[in-house]
Order: sequence, then structure tokens, then C-alpha cells
Amino acid sequence: MILVTGGAGFIGANFILDWLSLHDEPVLNLDKLTYAGNLDNLRVLDGDPRHVFAQGDIADAVRVAGLLTRYRPRAIINFAAESHVDRSIAGGEEFIQTNIVGVFRLLETARAYWSNLPPEERDGFRFLQVSTDEVYGSLSPSAAAFQESDRYEPNSPYSASKAAADHLVRASYRTYGLPVLTTNCANNYGPCQFPEKLIPHMIVAALNGQTLPVYGDGMQVRDWLYVKDHCKAVRRVLEAGRPGETYNIGSRDEKTNIEVVRSICRLLDELRPVDGGYEKLIKHVADRPGHDVRYAIDASKISDELGWKADQSFEAGLRETVNWYLAYPAWVERVRSHAQAV
Ligand code: NAD
Repeated sequence: MILVTGGAGFIGANFILDWLSLHDEPVLNLDKLTYAGNLDNLRVLDGDPRHVFAQGDIADAVRVAGLLTRYRPRAIINFAAESHVDRSIAGGEEFIQTNIVGVFRLLETARAYWSNLPPEERDGFRFLQVSTDEVYGSLSPSAAAFQESDRYEPNSPYSASKAAADHLVRASYRTYGLPVLTTNCANNYGPCQFPEKLIPHMIVAALNGQTLPVYGDGMQVRDWLYVKDHCKAVRRVLEAGRPGETYNIGSRDEKTNIEVVRSICRLLDELRPVDGGYEKLIKHVADRPGHDVRYAIDASKISDELGWKADQSFEAGLRETVNWYLAYPAWVERVRSHAQAV
């Protein structure tokens, strides 16, 4: 069995669905069910004994220790986090609690469990921390893409909290020998992403005839990765990554935010046409404070060492994503009402 934390969120849910479509190894899913976590994402697994759900906080050491003793997972994959930059700017406290204190407690609890395992299980145990490229800060338009050896220069409370977590993960390896792996991934998009993030936000707003707010001039560059490609990379790192190492994950599908929004408009013009088209809804708004100019990932390490590369192009992945949001309007309503209720 593996323990996935944050498995009711966007990437965690996609990871569990993919995992169970490929393996019969069960998944214990520990999730606090914050505004961003929703079991609706995993509804197709209702009644499937390979998915065990436990509601709880990664910072609750007693709860986590009890689950580890009971289910004896061979690995922990930590997706649990507060993940939205704008929310971290509005108030960073939850980000510190989950992304730093929570990760510290999860590491300590994992270490106590791991150190009492029989030797052969100890050797095979892994703690995989899912992190972000945002820890590296911002690139100028012509700078080389982020490499694993780059200095950490986080610019938002979100990225600073993720950077702190990465350091704690590294320290657990160097100080105690806990077999950790860290992945730093580019911006994800795909099905089940909470509609506050750029791509689902624009799709849902456009379908409702609302304005499409673009920060500043919209020239911020992001390296976009389809969520299923991220999940595949995490599986590969879990399987063959070297303990103590970090792996950058990205596709070099660099796009400006305004290009992304225009692409969504063009797809909707084709798939759900309206009079006058969707681009007229675009409105430039005041830029986000401390907004990073550009992220780009050099993924040559994971490609050379582990043979991973992205399968999905941005064009194909975006089309699939837009089609998914068109097919599941009720999902959007349900996750929004859950978010208001918590
Ligand atoms: P998300 O916000 O959609 O989901 C986070 C999940 O974690 C939710 O289900 C939430 O209920 C759960 N959670 C939050 N606090 C918790 C706690 N204290 N204990 C247990 N569960 C808790 O986030 P996401 O976009 O799926 O991101 C998952 C991970 O991937 C995060 O660590 C994020 O930093 C990282 N990441 C995300 C992206 C991206 O583009 N979304 C890119 C790179 C890395």
C-alpha cells in the first residue's frame, strides 16, 4: 500500500485515479478536505476496496502515526498543501501551518515509523515530496531554464512555504537518512482543477459570460504541463529516483498568460460558440504583487536518468481540459459549494 496525502485535491486525485488504473496496489488517501479538496474527484472509486479514505491533517502526528501503524505503507507521497498564490498573498498563515509545520510533522512521524521497520522494508521505504518550480523564483525572458542546482529564490508566501518544506525534506535525508525524493514541477492543468487557478478560472468565467481578468500585460511566461504527465513523472521518481535527489518536471511548453487565455477563447469559439466570440471578455487588471515574470523547467535530469518525458502537447491537453469542463458543469457547482461550506 502507498499513502497519498492531499489525494482529494487536483493533482492528488488525478494521481490516485491513474495509479489505480495501472496497479492493484491499494492507496490510503489522507486529506483534510479543505476548500480545495473534494471527494467528488474520486467518485468513480466509491466502493472500490483499493482506495481507503481517511480525513485528517498531515500536521496531526497522532492521527498520521495511527494510520501508518495500521496500514503499513511502503511509501508516502505528499501532495497535501495550500497551493494558491493569491490566497497566500491575502493571508499566509494556513500556508505556514500546512506547508511548513505540516510537512515537518509528517516527516517526523514518517521517520519514527520508518526507523522501526524491519531492514528490508526500511530499505525500500520512500517519502516523496511534491514541490513546485516556483521555489526557484523568477527568470528573465532570456535566462536558462531552472536546473535542480539553482538557488532557491521564492517570491510569494506560497513559494516561500514550499521552499521551506523542501529544505526540511532535504535535512531529513542528510541528518537522519530518511529515504526522501523531491519533485519540482511546472504549472499543471487538466481535469478536476479548482476553478480559482488560471486555466479553469478562465474556462468557467467565459462559459458564464463573465470578464476574463488577466494580470497586468499578461506577458508572464509559464511552463505548462498536463496533469497526467506530472502523475507519470511522480510514479517514475517513486519507482527509480535516487534517495536524497530532487527532480525537475516540465515540458518546455512555455506560454504567456495572455496566449493561454486567447487559446481558451479560440477553443470555446469552436466548441461552444457565442455571438461576438469570447475574446471580448478579456480585461487587463492590476498585476499581482511580486508577480514572477517567467518560469521554465530544464527537465533533462529526469529525462536522462529516469527516461521520463511529457506525452501531451499543450494544444492537445488544453483541448481535453476545455472539453472536460464543458462535460462536467455540475462538478464546478459542487466544488464551489463545498468551498463555501468549509
Ligand atoms: P490543491 O489545492 O488542488 O489540493 C491540495 C489538497 O491538499 C486538497 O485536497 C486539500 O484538502 C489537501 N490539504 C490541504 N491541507 C492539508 C492538510 N493540512 N492535511 C491534509 N490534507 C490537506 O493542490 P494541487 O494543485 O493538487 O497541488 C498538489 C501539490 O502539488 C501541492 O503540494 C502543490 O504545491 C504542488 N504543485 C502544484 C502545481 C500546480 O500547478 N497545481 C504545480 C507544481 C506543484
